[in-house]
Amino acid sequence: MSATIRFQVVGEAFRRKAVEVPNREDRPSEFFAKYVFNRSKMSQYLPLEVYNKMCDVMDNGSKLDMDTADAVAEGMKKWAMELGATHCTHWFQPLTEGTAEKHDGFVEHDGHGGMIEEFTGKQLVQQEPDASSFPNGGIRSTFEARGYSAWDPASPVFVIGDTLHIPTIFISYTGEALDYKTPLKRALKAVDEAATSVCRYFYPDVRKVISNLGWEQEYFLVDEGLYAARPDLLMTGRTLMGHDSAKNQQMDDHYLGSIPSRVAAFMKDLEIQALELGIPCKTRHNEVAPNQFEFAPIFEETNIAVDHNMLFMGLMKSVARKHGFRCLLHEKPFAGINGSGKHNNWSLMTNTGIALHQPGKTPQDNLRFITFIVETLMAVYRHNALLKASIISASNAHRLGANEAPPLIVSTFLGTQLAQVLAQIEESEGHQDIHLSPKQKVSLDIPQIPQLMLDNTDRNRTSPFAFTGNRFEFRAVGSQQNCAAAMIVLNTAVAEALTDFKERVDALIAGGMETTNAILSVLRQDIKTCKPIHFDGNGYSAEWRQEAERRGLDTQSSVPHILDCYLHQETVDMFARMNVMTQAELHARTEIKLETYYKKIQIEARVFADLCLNHILPTAYRYQNTLINNVYKMNGIFPAQEAKELNAHNLQLIQTITRHCTIITQKVEDMRQARKAANTLDTPREKAIGYHDTVAPLLQEIRYHVDKLELIVDDELWPLPKYRELLFIH
Ligand code: ADP
Ligand code: MG
Repeated sequence: MSATIRFQVVGEAFRRKAVEVPNREDRPSEFFAKYVFNRSKMSQYLPLEVYNKMCDVMDNGSKLDMDTADAVAEGMKKWAMELGATHCTHWFQPLTEGTAEKHDGFVEHDGHGGMIEEFTGKQLVQQEPDASSFPNGGIRSTFEARGYSAWDPASPVFVIGDTLHIPTIFISYTGEALDYKTPLKRALKAVDEAATSVCRYFYPDVRKVISNLGWEQEYFLVDEGLYAARPDLLMTGRTLMGHDSAKNQQMDDHYLGSIPSRVAAFMKDLEIQALELGIPCKTRHNEVAPNQFEFAPIFEETNIAVDHNMLFMGLMKSVARKHGFRCLLHEKPFAGINGSGKHNNWSLMTNTGIALHQPGKTPQDNLRFITFIVETLMAVYRHNALLKASIISASNAHRLGANEAPPLIVSTFLGTQLAQVLAQIEESEGHQDIHLSPKQKVSLDIPQIPQLMLDNTDRNRTSPFAFTGNRFEFRAVGSQQNCAAAMIVLNTAVAEALTDFKERVDALIAGGMETTNAILSVLRQDIKTCKPIHFDGNGYSAEWRQEAERRGLDTQSSVPHILDCYLHQETVDMFARMNVMTQAELHARTEIKLETYYKKIQIEARVFADLCLNHILPTAYRYQNTLINNVYKMNGIFPAQEAKELNAHNLQLIQTITRHCTIITQKVEDMRQARKAANTLDTPREKAIGYHDTVAPLLQEIRYHVDKLELIVDDELWPLPKYRELLFIH
């Protein structure tokens, strides 16, 4: 792009007005879930008997028979057609980063040369999308391309535009999971079973334990004209070059600041559409970096929350375009300022409404609270490396450990009070009642401001897994990731810890020990065992890394090596024992993660090399030529000695430009060779290591010189929008 066009694009971006979002007559309580076939729609559109069967399927996981499926499909079709739907699709979450869909019309021959609208139970329950074009990590043999998608009745269907969307799992012909939903559902079942049986020590009437997830989605908005002028953003989701803007986030003036009008219009539009799809949007605000924002809904059952997050990310992208923005979900679109995460707030709750990670009023409630806290810590302790593997990726690696997000070591923050209680239990003996002091009252000596209640926990932004009063917050999850990857590991690991806990307590009870004593006795052991995972200090400090290593926590920072953990024996054993994933499934997943990793760096390296050779170097040489011309002409009009003095600065610039250009040229060639060498390696793991060790560092080195040139070269000639233009336009 020429400089003239660049200025035009920037000017247009500045002049853009907020898109008008019409005010609605109806309230959220009226239009919430308008496009969702939820229980109230079911009761309206299904015969009572069918509705009752569906409730049994949804609540108790009983099997859906074909007759019921046909009857459900009939009611669904009627409802969807009233909303204008003409097509249906199975909507699933393959092991790529998005969702997948294949639309079929509701049409069938009527046998008399015409057509009728038809949608059967079979179409609702099962489809056979060709699995061969989805990542399968070697599970699918080349001659058997079939994959099956099967309806997940626990996730309600919904209508978007003219299409009825049916949330499904996606499995291979041989029954292995090719998606995120399948193992997630198995993990949720495992944690339900394990937690329910532990709950019965305290509350014999508990029949089910539900895993809850509340995600906080961070993102950037960029004007779409500027986005289109950055091939790196367009193709890799992040800027591969760009010097710091003089002003970025150092003034802390963006966080929770007033929301710019164009962005406010986008948020309002997005919220309405999300609410109509049953996503319970609640919170919206500016984030720390310029042009960075956050959305959070009210927490939901994990399976639904994951679907909703996937749906929401898709909506964010489409609504942003309507408002002349592009929504960036990459974890680190800009160097030098904060990246984006997706905090996963997680907790367990019984079918009777008891929040298991929340303290209660009676000693029994508190013993239950401590049990679930300690066994969660045990899970995180035993599988800290795997939890890290579940959220690592080429893009999230740029964010983690960058002194703005959690470090690349998983530890848990507990806060002073909870830490004290655990220490007290550990040191005590025999039977003990646990009393937790109520929220501490803080009296502020400011007129008209009432007394505030302080949470039991303070906030520690550096902790990847923090206890926040009634839940844990897993903060290392990346903004564009499917939350399921983290939720599969966390819920399975907690299921395993609770299963182990129950076995040991039962053994003591069988040996004659009273139940509370048995529970306390096992908890004391576990508090000791999992101590290394507890860290309330500064996770950014250099000492923590050494300390963590000493404690035996995983401190690996190379992505391919972090991913190895998926195939460690304790991982394979845990997933097998909890019936969540087989070794073959784990193998496939790891291969896919490794492939995705090196392919991303491969694309970045190609895009960056093109930009250097076709945009940056020619621009630098053009500017250098202007300087050379100037030097020659100065020599012509001034006496030699004077010309020498006058030319000194330009001569130095000419040298500097040459130096940067020479290094860029050399390193771009080195990067090409490094790619070629990595490409010849045999396995995805070797390739990933090759790309990590040899290609990725060159991207960083070359960038340094390109960014230096950006500071020197005439702004009029610079071909790409700069950070100050990308980041301060609303
Ligand atoms: P912040 O951590 O920024 O203060 P919020 O307090 O708004 O964020 O909460 C973040 C998310 O945590 C929301 O989605 C909220 O619904 C969810 N959340 C609150 N309580 C629980 C809980 N007990 N279990 C799971 N998620 C929860
Ligand atoms: Mg939070």
